[in-house]
Amino acid sequence: MVAVYDDAGVGHEIVQRAEAQAGRLFGEAGVAVSWRNPRWEVFLPEADGQKRFLHVHIVRRPRALAEDVFGTAFIDEEGHGRQADIFYDRIANLSTRGAQDRAVLLGAVMAHEVGHLLLGPHAHAPAGIMCGRWDADKLQLAIVGLAGFNAEQAMRMRQRIAQPAFSATMREVKPKGSVGIQPSAFSPEGAVLRAAQ
Ligand SMILES: [Zn+2]
Repeated sequence: MVAVYDDAGVGHEIVQRAEAQAGRLFGEAGVAVSWRNPRWEVFLPEADGQKRFLHVHIVRRPRALAEDVFGTAFIDEEGHGRQADIFYDRIANLSTRGAQDRAVLLGAVMAHEVGHLLLGPHAHAPAGIMCGRWDADKLQLAIVGLAGFNAEQAMRMRQRIAQPAFSATMREVKPKGSVGIQPSAFSPEGAVLRAAQ
């Protein structure tokens, strides 16, 4: 279960489309995600149930991280975490062709960061949704929804979720060791993204 908080005023429609997009990517990896929107729905989780949630906060921009970070996942010493922040201003600036693109790109960044919550900080791959450096071609694949998880990532996520300790180890962690994707430059070819670490 992933609780999504729209603190950037993105709006119900784009956020739900992004959730559907990210959910499709996880679904193709054999991971069923139940998205919850506490701000928009009657939502009274049991105190115990809260521990089983991952949390995604969509904010406009980072407070402390480098200027060009797109999202960050807060990872603990064991390589897992339960909160990711998404910085929507950068997504809106990158996808200028309309709400559909913004929703799909938001979904792609959500999938990448939630992927880190399940796969840990060293989860970057040469291609696909966990690619740490999105050049213009890879960004285009993400915008049209064609960047996904590979078989090895899918297996690791399913194993992670199946562990009895999964919910027990989801606790508040400090931003130390955060990871993310960020654009390093804007060029005529488009935005270049690189790994934050
Ligand atoms: Zn990353």
